Amino acid sequence: DDAVLDINGLVRHFTGPAGTVRAVDGVSLGIGRGEIVGLVGESGSGKSTVGRCAVRLDRPTAGQVTINGRDVTRLSKRALRPLRKDFHLVFQDPSSSLDPRMTVGAIVGQPLRLHRLASGDALRDRVAALLAQVGLRPELARRRPHELSGGQRQRVSIARALSVDPQLLVADEPTSALDVSVQASVLNLLADLQRERRFGCLFITHDLAAVEYLADRIAVMHLGQLVEQAPAAELFADPKHPYTQALLSAAPVPDPAAQRSRARIVLSGELPSPLDPPSGCRFHTRCPLAVDRCRAEPPVLRRLAEGGGRRQVSCHLVADDGTAPDAATI
Ligand code: SF4
Ligand code: MG
Repeated sequence: DDAVLDINGLVRHFTGPAGTVRAVDGVSLGIGRGEIVGLVGESGSGKSTVGRCAVRLDRPTAGQVTINGRDVTRLSKRALRPLRKDFHLVFQDPSSSLDPRMTVGAIVGQPLRLHRLASGDALRDRVAALLAQVGLRPELARRRPHELSGGQRQRVSIARALSVDPQLLVADEPTSALDVSVQASVLNLLADLQRERRFGCLFITHDLAAVEYLADRIAVMHLGQLVEQAPAAELFADPKHPYTQALLSAAPVPDPAAQRSRARIVLSGELPSPLDPPSGCRFHTRCPLAVDRCRAEPPVLRRLAEGGGRRQVSCHLVADDGTAPDAATI
């Protein structure tokens, strides 16, 4: 098996005074070696929780997380420690994940030190090379995070994540806290590094243009569940699930003449609470195509015959041959 990440039936519930938040409710997702999978959906859909469980920063309530063929679902912190060099998470806001008391050089070199992969001059050389790879001047090694710009800080956290050559990188909204003017350069950096090093990447974002640019495959998440999964080009050319159609219709189209420019689908109502998700299809309260069956029976994510089985969708109205109604025509 060539998967770097294999998530199977992942469930993460949080129980508090208000009840049980069903943040993730049965997500299965695989990432192949060198593959970039985009995970998209509204905020509150559970994307970040999937990402945190994927690198075992969070412990799943049920289901299984396998990294490089090794089941890490229930490993203790201690047992996880030596494995941690194989998977890293780059957070949305680098300021909160970089220790303000440490210098940039110490931050970037920390994983190498912890895993005893370099020390002394060799460590200093590795750190200098890493800074160069993420486009930072060597002098910055002596600075502290607050002396850097947001874009530079995110480059530092990328350098740290890649210092030990992980097989899997989870990037959770890596550019959304940055100025629009530097977002593209950080995305380009990630794309370049990924092409060179071929790590598998789970790229979590609500930025559809970014995901279209970066991802090989896209998974669409809604209220704790995946509703569609497809190769990126196919998803953008022909979204099957009404929720995907709505998401894409709301995204700005870079080229207005592009054939995929589609009628805007405006979803009525709020994203329902994961404390009390709707019965049947969790999208039925906002779906322009909902029928009686949708309120009663939850659709299952299933493989379509169309496209050689590379597409999956969970909607009662999408046929196995891929025939799907267009929510924009309603
Ligand atoms: Fe809409 Fe029904 Fe399909 Fe759910 S199953 S997306 S409610 S048509
Ligand atoms: Mg999030």
